[in-house]
Amino acid sequence: MLKTHTLIIGGGLAGLSAGTALEGRKPYLIAERESRPGGLAATVKKGRFSFDYSGHLLHLRWPKTSKLILDALKGNCARIKRDARIYAHKSWTPYPFQANLSGMPPRVKSECVSGFLKAYKAGGGPGDGSEVFSRWTRRVFGGGISEHFMLPYNAKLWRYPLERLTTEWCAPFVPMPKPAEVIEGAYGKKSEGLGYNTVFHYPKSGGIGALATAFSAGLGGLRLGLEVESVNLKKGVAMVRHFGPVNFSRLINTSPLHSFIAMAEDAPAAVKRAAAALRHNTVYVLNLGVKGVKNDMHWGYFPGAEFPFYRAGLASNFSRRAAPRGHASFYIELATAGEPLDLASAEEEILRGLKACGLLKSAGQVVEKLWLKIPCAYVVYNRERARALPVIFDWLKSRSALSIGRYGAWKYSFMEESVKEGLEAASSVLR
Ligand SMILES: Cc1cc2nc3c(=O)[nH]c(=O)nc-3n(C[C@H](O)[C@H](O)[C@H](O)COP(=O)(O)OP(=O)(O)OC[C@H]3O[C@@H](n4cnc5c(N)ncnc54)[C@H](O)[C@@H]3O)c2cc1C
Repeated sequence: MLKTHTLIIGGGLAGLSAGTALEGRKPYLIAERESRPGGLAATVKKGRFSFDYSGHLLHLRWPKTSKLILDALKGNCARIKRDARIYAHKSWTPYPFQANLSGMPPRVKSECVSGFLKAYKAGGGPGDGSEVFSRWTRRVFGGGISEHFMLPYNAKLWRYPLERLTTEWCAPFVPMPKPAEVIEGAYGKKSEGLGYNTVFHYPKSGGIGALATAFSAGLGGLRLGLEVESVNLKKGVAMVRHFGPVNFSRLINTSPLHSFIAMAEDAPAAVKRAAAALRHNTVYVLNLGVKGVKNDMHWGYFPGAEFPFYRAGLASNFSRRAAPRGHASFYIELATAGEPLDLASAEEEILRGLKACGLLKSAGQVVEKLWLKIPCAYVVYNRERARALPVIFDWLKSRSALSIGRYGAWKYSFMEESVKEGLEAASSVLR
């Protein structure tokens, strides 16, 4: 039986950064089931285009992880000022909607501003996260902003009843403007500084996959094509497909928490039940290589029901090398609650939508396409999640196992956070 000190399930950014910190200090094995590292932070080449699993931009906020990421990329990284927009009521307006209503028709503007001021006067503070989204957004932003953006956009993204979606995830991701910013944004002044992603970093070449490639270099314990099929935390043994048993002293899981618990042989029934209650959506990304597009936007949000997608972006506006000269690389994101998507009709509707908002003139401009599927994309925040996580993590703690990253920790997080959690997990193992 193969023996290692630390078994890491998954070679996404969380697993790779944990391996980076353990390298040369403790024997470790990263079992990654795919034939490439990076997890969701990966780039696929098709023809002369390179496509990510939708926009994967680095929003760096912590000194240690920023340095690690920028050092790994060794100058292959650009710092870019965000140009994000919203398309609603047949008009474009800058992101975030709540602070930039200037592009909206007068009726929409006045409904949004008056609704916001009323909500603000009634004391619409951010809340503690336990409130459900449908009530929270009306209380914080008022009826107009909720009806014209927050409710339709989030319904399309989450594909989960907004009367049951809780709001712990909102604080870092939903910008909260002040009354003066809402009024100024509606009647002239563009508000640029709001939100977590006003400036982002992105590799100059190689797509976001360049980061995983850089992290993987020098990781002696990384093994591709190894899928962990079951674990027994009490015995310290994992079964790996086509490989056999691996004996470990410590385990760091980065695979989706619900499937990890499902394969944990020694998990008690209550822990299995808690994990089975966790919900997530599925995202399909249609990537298009397109000729003759002139548009500087990075990405746009689409709350309208006439668009099947919730977001569409132009990767070639973050990195010219994503597309050949004279061409652009688009990514268009659609979410489902897990049901299969009819790709052919979705594609027709997408092309119709891109033409309706002016991003595309004709379907004849498309020269390349690639569908990518993210089966477990956004974890659903609901009361079941709030009840389940302590049950699961208490048991994992009793077995000295760590479960980290966006899906291992079952949270709405971002790449830098996965890197940070990988480093912290390695420190805990080394302690
Ligand atoms: C649509 C979308 C857009 C996003 N955009 C951004 C963005 O712009 N900026 C940002 O910072 N973040 C973004 N994110 C979040 C980002 O993708 C994640 O935070 C980060 O990549 C997660 O890394 P991870 O290592 O935690 O998980 P993952 O990338 O999911 O890695 C887990 C790895 O485990 C492997 N694995 C699973 N099961 C097994 C098994 N049984 N055996 C072996 N291996 C297994 C998988 O193959 C995978 O490689 C986005 C996410 C989505 C869904």
